[in-house]
Amino acid sequence: MNRIGKINYRQINRISPSQFYSMKNCAYKSILAEAFEKKPLLPISPTAYLGIVMHKMLELISKGTVSSEEEFDFQFNEQVKFQEETLKQLGYPFFVPLQKNVKDFGMKKILLKKHLKNRVIRTGSARSIKIDSEKWFESADKSIGGKIDLIIEEGFETEIIDFKTGGITHDVLDDEGDVFSNIKNEYKEQLKLYAYLYFEKTGKYPVRLSLVDLAKQKFTVDFTSHECKTIFDEARELLKATNNSINNSIFSANPSVENCKYCLYRPACSYFLEYLKINDSFNDISGRISKVVKYLNGNVTVFIDLPERSISVMGFIAENLQYFNENINNTIAIFNVKKEASENVYSVTRTTTIYDQ
Ligand code: SF4
Repeated sequence: MNRIGKINYRQINRISPSQFYSMKNCAYKSILAEAFEKKPLLPISPTAYLGIVMHKMLELISKGTVSSEEEFDFQFNEQVKFQEETLKQLGYPFFVPLQKNVKDFGMKKILLKKHLKNRVIRTGSARSIKIDSEKWFESADKSIGGKIDLIIEEGFETEIIDFKTGGITHDVLDDEGDVFSNIKNEYKEQLKLYAYLYFEKTGKYPVRLSLVDLAKQKFTVDFTSHECKTIFDEARELLKATNNSINNSIFSANPSVENCKYCLYRPACSYFLEYLKINDSFNDISGRISKVVKYLNGNVTVFIDLPERSISVMGFIAENLQYFNENINNTIAIFNVKKEASENVYSVTRTTTIYDQ
């Protein structure tokens, strides 16, 4: 079974614009990510691996490296194969093939293919257009840095484009209670940070910041140079404060359903494990093993005492029996279980992971 052991905290030298928002919500997540050398402690969803493929394809299409259906199919298959090999090497062969394990795989591929027609870059203009993709930008002090998906320079005007393979907007309520769509704040801040990094390197701000989704919709992020500088200063201060907390070994975290649900460092987070005691909306369990039962079909169910209730987790394979028996009365944490319809009953999923406490 898995065990966290002593955490070797280390300084964070640099943060990326895409990491900033998450760090602002819970700096301890970034601290743990650095301590574990960015190796997640729980399996990543297969959708994220297809996301990497789609992002790469968007980059290749934008650059013009992939411009025909044949090239698209070849490259797409190669990229999928590469990610599937990675999944096997990481010990998640059950996510392969991605086609069978990612919801709407076919639809996502069709939407992606549509980017072949009418690429987001205007062509045929009399003025020369310079295109850079996946270009690295970092601040002079190297504390903030990241790759910009696409930079289009046309004359003296520059547009920065970031591709998103998930939803770009979310619904918000206005003062009158009406619902309207707004670009997610994390994406706005990410792009403004890119704009500042671009300014630091070139001495000029882009004229346009855009987000492009899988359906080829383009969203423009309004900005001022003052806003970009303010967010950059905020990011630098946050990094400084986070490194101070690492130096002084004084940590704090911000557990919430929103922050922790997809945090892949939950097993190492004592704040989360405390929070789990008072919040049962997660698919994770932490408690004392009270009993283990092996059924005739070979399946094993473990009974666990939580602070306020007792629960059972069914569906473990027989190989787990010895471990559970040896740990009766010990506290363990089980991540990624599934809630069954009956109250206090959970079952094992393909990504269920056990950690000693
Ligand atoms: S589990 Fe929650 S509180 Fe802990 S590091 Fe992750 S986001 Fe922060």
